[in-house]
Amino acid sequence: MGIPVAKLVIASKNPGKVREFEAILKPLGIATLVLPPHVPDAPEEGSTLYENARSKARFYAHWVHAPVLADDSGLEVDALGGRPGVLSARYAGRHGDDAANNAKLLGELQGVPDHQRSARFRCTLVLAEPSEGREWSAEGTLEGRIAHRPAGTHGFGYDPLFWLPTFGMTLAQLPPEVKNVVSHRRRAIHQLLRQWRD
Ligand code: IMP
Repeated sequence: MGIPVAKLVIASKNPGKVREFEAILKPLGIATLVLPPHVPDAPEEGSTLYENARSKARFYAHWVHAPVLADDSGLEVDALGGRPGVLSARYAGRHGDDAANNAKLLGELQGVPDHQRSARFRCTLVLAEPSEGREWSAEGTLEGRIAHRPAGTHGFGYDPLFWLPTFGMTLAQLPPEVKNVVSHRRRAIHQLLRQWRD
C-alpha cells in the first residue's frame, strides 16, 4: 500500500523539531504544514510520551481537519533512572528553556564517570487522520552519552550535551543533514512508513 497522505500538519510549535520533520519528510514526498497561528497549545498532561503524542495529534486534528503528525520526545539518562524523560522540555521549570535544562542536567551528573553517562533520545509519533478516524503510532531511539560540557551549535534542546560514540562528537556538532539520517525522529518516521506499507 502506498503512503496515504501527501501533506501532514506538524503538531509542534518547536521550530527545531519542525525543521527536522520537514527535512526528513520532504525527500519521502510528504509536504509539511505548520500549525495556523490561532490554534491554542495542546495540553501535555500525560504520564508517557505516547499519551502526550496521542493527545496532541487528536487535539490539533480537531482544529485543522487534516492529517496531523504529533511527536513527544525526550531524553532518558540511565544514571538518573530515566529522567528527565517525559518532562524533558520543562526539566528545569520553564517549558522549552534549553539553556536551563542543559545546566541542570550537567549539575545532576557532576562527578558521574563516562561509563555511567549512557542516555538515549526517544521519539514517539502519533499520526491522526481525522476524516477516516484512523491513527498510527511508532517509536524511534538514539543511544549516546551525556558529555561533560556542551559542544556544537546545530540542533536544539539537549543536542550540545548528547555525545555519539560512533561519530566522536555531540549531536550539535553534527551537520543537520547527518543528524536527520541517524536521529530518533528519523527512525520513528521510518517505522511509521513501514506500517503504512505493510
Ligand atoms: P516535547 O516533545 O515538545 O515535550 O519536548 C521534548 C523535549 O525533549 C525538547 O524540548 C528537548 O528538550 C528534548 N528533545 C527531544 N528531541 C530532541 C532532539 O532531537 N535534540 C535535543 N533535544 C531533544
